[in-house]
Amino acid sequence: MWLGVISLLPEMFEAVSYDGVFGRALSSGRIALNRYNPRDFTQDRHRTVDDRPYGGGPGMVMMVEPLRHALTAAKADAPANTKVVLMSPQGQRFDQGLAVAESALPGLILICGRYEGIDERFVSRYVDAEWSVGDYVLSGGELPAMIVMDAISRHLPGTLGNQQSVIDESYLDGTLDYPHYTRPEIVDAQRVPQELMSGDHNRTRRYRRSLALQRTMERRPDLLTGRLFDPLDRQLLTACAQQLGPHTVEKDREKK
Ligand code: SAM
Repeated sequence: MWLGVISLLPEMFEAVSYDGVFGRALSSGRIALNRYNPRDFTQDRHRTVDDRPYGGGPGMVMMVEPLRHALTAAKADAPANTKVVLMSPQGQRFDQGLAVAESALPGLILICGRYEGIDERFVSRYVDAEWSVGDYVLSGGELPAMIVMDAISRHLPGTLGNQQSVIDESYLDGTLDYPHYTRPEIVDAQRVPQELMSGDHNRTRRYRRSLALQRTMERRPDLLTGRLFDPLDRQLLTACAQQLGPHTVEKDREKK
């Protein structure tokens, strides 16, 4: 997948370029990461990329021209049908569904804002979508862009050593992940659950599914509402609900 970032602080992306899943995807060539700094596309001696907002108010606003030139350069390198996305706290919430869907794109250009934001005329003319990583305001779009790139990269074929990891993960099927254990078998008198030690794959699968549903019911009951479940999940959910007592999905629905 071809990735482009437009950023005033392109060196920040070094942080994810060498290690971990994303770093390996880069070194293996599954992902190409290209950085474009609007400052490199300025014409004046001071390499100006921002100016004061019309109408007054605090902070500075990123100007159209340096961004437009940076985007033109990025598009010239990018494959056809590359999507242009602005990282923005006002955007659509970036979630696992988007990560999966957008991993099918040939290319993605992520624009990282700084200061108070970007001149709206650039946004309305050149941006296909705006994505937010959460309901809080960060100082720049670089960290959100890295989150997006990392989440998407996990869904590219061959990126993860074991593709089952991504299938089991939280959110992919609308539930949270089950808890994990590794050696040693006993830590501070706490034993690994017997269900995971039996070697019986069906028993392990059922146990993990039951814990995934229970966690989801406890921590994120909103993920369960309005969903259809197969008979085994329904049976496990009923058992979880009995175990958890009055804190059920229905109860949560009543609250809304
Ligand atoms: N004035 C803007 C507002 O209130 O909506 C906030 C600007 S913020 C200080 C600077 C840049 O950080 C934004 O242009 C955006 O690119 C990025 N940013 C901040 N919070 C973000 C979030 N939650 N998700 C995605 N990008 C974010």
